[in-house]
Amino acid sequence: MESADEASKALLEKYRKGLVQIYTGNGKGKTTAAFGQALRALGQGYRVCVIQFMKGRKYGECLAAEQHLPGLTVHLTGLDSFVMRENPAPLDVELARQGFELARRAIASNDYEMVILDELNVAADFQLIPLAEIVNLIKDKPAGVDLILTGRYAPPELLALADTVTEMREVRHHYNAGVKDRAGIEF
Ligand code: ATP
Ligand code: MG
Repeated sequence: MESADEASKALLEKYRKGLVQIYTGNGKGKTTAAFGQALRALGQGYRVCVIQFMKGRKYGECLAAEQHLPGLTVHLTGLDSFVMRENPAPLDVELARQGFELARRAIASNDYEMVILDELNVAADFQLIPLAEIVNLIKDKPAGVDLILTGRYAPPELLALADTVTEMREVRHHYNAGVKDRAGIEF
């Protein structure tokens, strides 16, 4: 027998509207903002799945999830090398498509209240994944699932479907002053 508390929580959950958020633009902070949102959601009991496109290396957020954050699942789908926009390697395309299948399954699974598709905007812009399939994924998502897409160059077709769009604008970045990539800041 569930308590009144549990029953009202279940009811709230049933009618919760999952939002679509996009973090794009050329300033720093898109992926880390998505993980900040994940942290907040985890604290409120969500189960969160992150799929990182075009990333073949465990960044700090992935390591933190493994070590400290049960409830946050992170999948990497890509190589630890740059993808060429005009001429992506067949393996880059294959891995992005595998990641997309994983995303489809995660969104439909009922196992997660929030799904974050990190750098999917870039994978769309590079045409690693057909834009129409991403559009359908967003349109057909279960109502309760919160979805976040990150990455530069978000195509207008995706922006049009989002409830919230935030553009990170570069005002200054330490890279341009010669500061090298640093563990804990860049990865
Ligand atoms: P972060 O992962 O730090 O939140 P991001 O997701 O906004 O950054 P990406 O476009 O995914 O940035 O690029 C990944 C890395 O490139 C980041 O770790 C970041 O420090 C670096 N970076 C982001 N923006 C810039 C920029 N405008 N100039 C130089 N390097 C940048
Ligand atoms: Mg990023």
